Amino acid sequence: MSSKDSTVSFPELIKLKRDGGQLNRAEISTFVQGVTSGAIQKCQIGAMLMAIWQKGMTNEETLAMTREMMNSGETFQWPKEWLVVDKHSTGGVGDKVSLPLAPALAACGCKIPMISGRGLAHTGGTLDKLESIPGFKVNQSVEQVKQILEDVGCCIVGQTERLVPADRVLYAIRDATSTVDSLPLIISSIISKKGAEGLSALVLDVKFGRAALYKDLNSARRLAQSLVTAGNNLGVKTGAVLSRMDTPIGQSVGNTVEVCEALECLKGRGSDDLKELVTNLGGYLLWMCGHSGTPESGKTKIAVKLENGEALKKFEAMLMAQGVSADVAHSLCLNETDYFEHMKRAAHQTELKVLDDGAVLDIGGLALAEVLHKLGAGRAKSGEEIDHSVGAEILVEMGQQVQKGQSWIRIHHNCPNLNPHYSDLQKALVIGSHDKYETVSRMAEFIYPDNPNMS
Ligand code: URA
Repeated sequence: MSSKDSTVSFPELIKLKRDGGQLNRAEISTFVQGVTSGAIQKCQIGAMLMAIWQKGMTNEETLAMTREMMNSGETFQWPKEWLVVDKHSTGGVGDKVSLPLAPALAACGCKIPMISGRGLAHTGGTLDKLESIPGFKVNQSVEQVKQILEDVGCCIVGQTERLVPADRVLYAIRDATSTVDSLPLIISSIISKKGAEGLSALVLDVKFGRAALYKDLNSARRLAQSLVTAGNNLGVKTGAVLSRMDTPIGQSVGNTVEVCEALECLKGRGSDDLKELVTNLGGYLLWMCGHSGTPESGKTKIAVKLENGEALKKFEAMLMAQGVSADVAHSLCLNETDYFEHMKRAAHQTELKVLDDGAVLDIGGLALAEVLHKLGAGRAKSGEEIDHSVGAEILVEMGQQVQKGQSWIRIHHNCPNLNPHYSDLQKALVIGSHDKYETVSRMAEFIYPDNPNMS
């Protein structure tokens, strides 16, 4: 289609939005189809995105945009009896939740076609973490995804060429035109991809706090409510957890080290912090898709699958289905194992010491992530290589009483020394009097409409 073939030309559509008008469904369809087919020029797409960024979109426009994007490519179709579920997180420091969550849900009998991303933030995304495991293939065709779901129940893959192609084009241009942070563009991008997965239920983990995109609860709640509305309007039972993102999730940040921590969680060990997020998000999903009578009973089911080794078995099967050799997959999943026999260890491990006696009042997630990014754990632009072996293991917990000279963090690095980063790293740890310590739960709220498909 060229702009001349459509009843409204692309410049007219751009003008309409630029001047504050509302686009109807047909106009949004013309725009999205033009993006997908390549009929609309990149400069026109950029101009439309900027007009949307400036003037916003109504709920109707956002829903139409989401639907058109979802239908811009292939959508998954599943057998009716399958409970197909997924989770999306807005991104946090040390967020390895997907790794134990997908197999725990599969162990409960659900199907999870988890489509994840790579990190553009400080450290890698879920796909980067999994690529620390030799042989793991994130690129799987639609047919392969279907087969893995039949055989194993879960997979964690990259976006395929055929799924929501409009988003790939739009996202790249949003990145280049400073239009990423627009609510309707974020909503249509996230929900169109989840809608195309053919889900029964979706849980969103919307982060707020000093290390999150949204610093305060109110702005995160606005995003969560809009995402929940769009998901439910699309026919996917969608709920959102609002979770705090000040300190890193669990005890590790990086790629390989986060895989190790996820494996520990799958072996029923590791930090309660990570387990709390995994069981809560899984519990809400099991409840929303009708597998459990209440979120609490769903949460218990997930906890049992982490304790009894069934989630670990699913993870091992998923690794093999996605290209990891049986020997490596099995060895990583042994109760006692040396993870670094199979995954690359950085050349240096340096422990930093606590400078005062007292209680741990804060571990600044953002500060840590920024240093790890500089050490190579993340990428500055799409397509760049990252160093999977760079990371941090946090050796103390919030509220813990510590003594001067005790090690509080182990940095895995390949540069010869940490001197240029020493003071930034030490600033991330705040020590003080125990009376100043307040226990705060990571989970703040759960948003779910009374009438999920009528919002
Ligand atoms: N993740 C997405 O997939 N799209 C956005 O716009 C933001 C986060």
